[in-house]
Amino acid sequence: MIPKSKYDVIVVGAGVAGCLFSRNLARAGFSVCLFEKKAESELGYKWWDSVIKTVFDEVSLSHPSGEELYETGNIHFYSPSREFSVFARDTGKTYAVNRRKFGQRLLQEAIDAGAEFHEMSEVLEPEADVVNKKIIGVTVKGIGPVCADLTVDCSGLKGIIRSQIPFETEISKDIVDKDIFHTYREIRRKRADYTDERFIVCFGKDRGMNWVSFRQEGLVDFFAGRMGGQENCKPSRETVAELVEKFKYGCDAEIIAGGFEEGIPVRRPLDSFVENSLMVIGNAACQCHPVFGAGIASSLYGAHIASDTAIQALERKVTTKEKLWAYNVKYHRSELNQAFTFFDVIREFVLRLSESQIEFLLASRIVDIGEVWGKKELQTPRGFNSAIKLLLKGKKRLPLMLKLKKCLKRADRARGTCTEYPIRYTPETFSEWRKKIKSCYIK
Ligand SMILES: Cc1cc2nc3c(=O)[nH]c(=O)nc-3n(C[C@H](O)[C@H](O)[C@H](O)COP(=O)(O)OP(=O)(O)OC[C@H]3O[C@@H](n4cnc5c(N)ncnc54)[C@H](O)[C@@H]3O)c2cc1C
Repeated sequence: MIPKSKYDVIVVGAGVAGCLFSRNLARAGFSVCLFEKKAESELGYKWWDSVIKTVFDEVSLSHPSGEELYETGNIHFYSPSREFSVFARDTGKTYAVNRRKFGQRLLQEAIDAGAEFHEMSEVLEPEADVVNKKIIGVTVKGIGPVCADLTVDCSGLKGIIRSQIPFETEISKDIVDKDIFHTYREIRRKRADYTDERFIVCFGKDRGMNWVSFRQEGLVDFFAGRMGGQENCKPSRETVAELVEKFKYGCDAEIIAGGFEEGIPVRRPLDSFVENSLMVIGNAACQCHPVFGAGIASSLYGAHIASDTAIQALERKVTTKEKLWAYNVKYHRSELNQAFTFFDVIREFVLRLSESQIEFLLASRIVDIGEVWGKKELQTPRGFNSAIKLLLKGKKRLPLMLKLKKCLKRADRARGTCTEYPIRYTPETFSEWRKKIKSCYIK
């Protein structure tokens, strides 16, 4: 099918954000064109990801069931040296979602609602009215320009529209490397005689975290992620190779899913997600957890509130930045974003620590990794000997504790600043707010 030359809405990228947004706008009666560079059969990932259950009701999606679900369970967290560990019991608040099945369901809901889907259609750049500082559509590879009253960038980290806005804008075009979590994941078959069923996570090693999970029947899941912007850091692929070597008796040689690197934006969300006739959602807008990179629930939430704003704007036939601003306000003031912004300040602090300092904070439970990960209940208090060792070490760690205290204060201030996000856009109020949020970070 050849796209028409004009739509009410163009959505770039059929990930979770793009599909939910397309579904909502098509249900409201608008003509929606959804461009995706991959083939439909390749959408999502051939693995499972953890998603908080409450988001499904919040964004009016039915809960996953049957083939869309994998097993969830307890987690063993380890410090960088692996000397200390905590066992976090699963509280049943998250699903492990089959990303391929879930992605396909979301796309089908968008198509059923009336969105026009174009697979293998790569968007190259925005079309713009530079004089009036307005996005008027996109250029698609092999097709050419396609216009819309509203263009929505849901293209993931690269932000194909966001990064090429051809006029001065308050949307940050580039995501710097220090704000990218460089991940590598591979899934292998589990050997039939291997009985381990643990999910083992090591936090703070090689400037990131890694895991090996034997939780899913017949499968082994290896993952490593490291923060960007650091010199001499081991690539995540190498960390996984070491893990595979360590657990080689538990798995087959063949990689059956994953086996590639992918970046996740980990910073507080963009200060603004809107321009004249443009909205940015999901990973493209940095709506991910700044420490762990989880972004499905928050991208769905972003798409949900963005679609409410878009429907109102399109009904009134006004898609100016001022009209679309309500999406900024709702997202930035939300509890979810307050928590993410809090963690972003913590992330900045943790990145400046040595492995031994991270070891101390985790092992002493000053930082409760189970709680941060996803409200897991912790069990097994640390042993008496470890407690004594830590107390002795703690004396030497006084400067670190004072810095942590200051960081928590700044993180709290940043959380509060989210609730002061300007209700209406003027360059002055926005610039004032930006100064305030930036002041919560180390200069
Ligand atoms: C290894 C790994 C593990 C993860 N684990 C979790 C987890 O457990 N829980 C969690 O919540 N999150 C997890 N995430 C993060 C989560 O996958 C993302 O936050 C989420 O998918 C973001 O959705 P999105 O729709 O914004 O972007 P994406 O899912 O990135 O979708 C963007 C879409 O746009 C398409 N696209 C890109 N450029 C173009 C173009 N030029 N033209 C047309 N189409 C284009 C892409 O092909 C893609 O389909 C994980 C990510 C990784 C890499």
